[in-house]
Amino acid sequence: MTAPCPPTYDAVVIGAGPAGSATAARLAQAGFDVLLLDRARFPRPKPCAEYVSPGAVEALHRLGALRPILEEGPARLRGMRVVGPDGGGFTGRFLRGWGLGVPRERLDLHIAAAAQRAGAQLLQGVTFESLAPAQGGVWVRVRSGDSSIGLRARVVIGADGLNSRVAHQLGLARRSGPTRAALVAHALGVAGMGDVGEMHVGAAGYAGLAPLGDGITNVAVVVDLARDGIRAPVSAAFQEQLAQFPSLRGRLDDVETISPVRAVGPFGRTTRRASAERALLVGDAADFYDPFTGEGVYAALQGAELAAACAAVALGRDRLGARHLAWYDRMRREAFAAKWTLERIVSWVISRPGALRHVAARLARRPELADLLVSVTAHAAPPSRVFRPSYVWRLVN
Ligand SMILES: Cc1cc2nc3c(=O)[nH]c(=O)nc-3n(C[C@H](O)[C@H](O)[C@H](O)COP(=O)(O)OP(=O)(O)OC[C@H]3O[C@@H](n4cnc5c(N)ncnc54)[C@H](O)[C@@H]3O)c2cc1C
Repeated sequence: MTAPCPPTYDAVVIGAGPAGSATAARLAQAGFDVLLLDRARFPRPKPCAEYVSPGAVEALHRLGALRPILEEGPARLRGMRVVGPDGGGFTGRFLRGWGLGVPRERLDLHIAAAAQRAGAQLLQGVTFESLAPAQGGVWVRVRSGDSSIGLRARVVIGADGLNSRVAHQLGLARRSGPTRAALVAHALGVAGMGDVGEMHVGAAGYAGLAPLGDGITNVAVVVDLARDGIRAPVSAAFQEQLAQFPSLRGRLDDVETISPVRAVGPFGRTTRRASAERALLVGDAADFYDPFTGEGVYAALQGAELAAACAAVALGRDRLGARHLAWYDRMRREAFAAKWTLERIVSWVISRPGALRHVAARLARRPELADLLVSVTAHAAPPSRVFRPSYVWRLVN
């Protein structure tokens, strides 16, 4: 007797973070047979500063995932404060909408639930191992406990995050940008928190504070690994790193850390392309530069809209070759070129104290420029507005 042939899914989505779950939800909504799998079991922790930008809030609304998140009463954020190493800083308020501070355990759980509601099948505790070509599709080998299982997919979506195994398997991964790592924890009793997120730039990295509601603050510190390593134990390294930010002095004295300190990194990666034969990459698996502007969740959700649109057309026409899917890379360039440029400019400015001091002083004196810059990074205003010569002129003069 021959072994029964495994079912062929239209799409197997690897990784059920925001990018994978949102892609799975959209493909399932379009009527495709979708399997979404993740090595973790939800809710699972994810080290992140947990700021959800107004642009990401709108994308959650389009996905039908916003209402259950709001029902849990997350903090609403009205803007962002940036403080330089000398204590000088500026606050920019969103010109449109509001952001959220939401624990990733809850955010990712709700997005995965939206995928299930749309009809995607979610397999948890299943680790992706390898890909191989198959007749009319792709073999996806996964591990669940001691069992190795083969699945067939017409198209594979790699949404397995920063160190994407799918991207490595496809030969598309490459390093890009500064090599950084981060330590993240939840804390009670951070003094002086308001209705904005905060970024504090120091000599060797930066720290973010995001209110999450109920007096809880997400505290994240990002370290440049080329300059500074992270030593074990991470809780001591976390305190040591935070002590290096003069602008935080006095605000963390009565803090109680109410979660484990989690480390993540190194990050700063991209891919040569985000499409290949019968495969697309989305979210951090496709590109991740630096979390300073807090755009990762937005990019994951927006990228999911593009990946699902492209995969749906390709599945509908049964044209899933690399040549046909290259359209996805063009869509990504169009959607993200301004974001990539702005990320690099911001990264350049914050790594040069003189430039940051100058820009922060200008923005503090001209709140309308600060509001626009913060709104652009949060996708609450079009990027073209900060690339206009008149904006740049007012910023530097
Ligand atoms: C320190 C730090 C702070 C950040 N702060 C913010 C912020 O405040 N706001 C913001 O918008 N963005 C922030 N980001 C970025 C944001 O976290 C990511 O961009 C976002 O999580 C990307 O979502 P994703 O779905 O692509 O990946 P992930 O959320 O990483 O999800 C990937 C999933 O794939 C699964 N997986 C991995 N490997 C396998 C495998 N082999 N088999 C099966 N499953 C697998 C994982 O378990 C995980 O669930 C931050 C990032 C860092 C590092």
